Amino acid sequence: RGAISFRDVQFAYDPARPILKGISFDIPAGHTVAVVGPSGAGKSTLSRLLYRFYDIQDGAITIDGQDVRSVTQTSLRAAIGMVPQDTVLFNDTIGYNIRYGRIDASQAEVEQAAQIAQVDQFIKTLPDGYKSMVGERGLKLSGGEKQRVAIARTILKAPPILILDEATSALDTRTEQDIQAALDEVSKNRTTLVIAHRLSTVIHADEIIVLKGGTIAERGTHSDLLAQN
Ligand code: ADP
Ligand code: ADP
Repeated sequence: RGAISFRDVQFAYDPARPILKGISFDIPAGHTVAVVGPSGAGKSTLSRLLYRFYDIQDGAITIDGQDVRSVTQTSLRAAIGMVPQDTVLFNDTIGYNIRYGRIDASQAEVEQAAQIAQVDQFIKTLPDGYKSMVGERGLKLSGGEKQRVAIARTILKAPPILILDEATSALDTRTEQDIQAALDEVSKNRTTLVIAHRLSTVIHADEIIVLKGGTIAERGTHSDLLAQN
């Protein structure tokens, strides 16, 4: 599960200025694809179209062969984990922030306790970069650290597709490495990863799509692109 297909996708916020001018690509289930390109190329827009934050104006986007327009928002949200540019956290501990959304308050207390225990067990399995963060409060974290928390939440939900929109703030090398480690963990679960990105560590992607001027300027593996340039 988690195959993505774009067919002649067109999108504009303003009809006079198209952002995506007929974009087509297929991402097999479980692949990691990095969408790169200059600022303003439409990377964030492309990722938002996938979960229908915006609707496309022409073409089609399908997930596992199903047109996203025929899928309910609820099942789209279940299928797609989104790590936005600027993750908003509760001013509570990271443990709480990761647990949030996993605990079903309508269930009996015993069940809730079991869910909390399951999440706490999961937190113990997170890459080292998280361990020192778990007791920290959300608001104190840097942009990159907040993204790591959002990734952890998503790993726990284990959706077939995960979209990571690059952090707006520059990330230090250490944070980039921690995010990469978290993403490696995600891709082990056969999750399809779409990364709209500036991270220098694109090497881990199975494929790179270069957006420029509303079209796909280049696509291929990391070594394909290096060979062409
Ligand atoms: P980035 O280049 O980092 O992706 P953008 O400047 O494209 O950042 O977008 C930042 C935020 O502002 C996004 O939420 C986007 O939807 C919004 N935004 C960007 N450009 C416009 C615009 N011309 N009109 C309205 N909202 C915009
Ligand atoms: P990228 O992620 O590659 O930096 P975006 O998808 O954020 O690019 O933006 C592509 C173009 O669309 C930019 O020119 C941006 O200003 C514009 N844009 C983004 N969001 C909006 C919005 N909500 N309304 C109007 N224009 C937008």
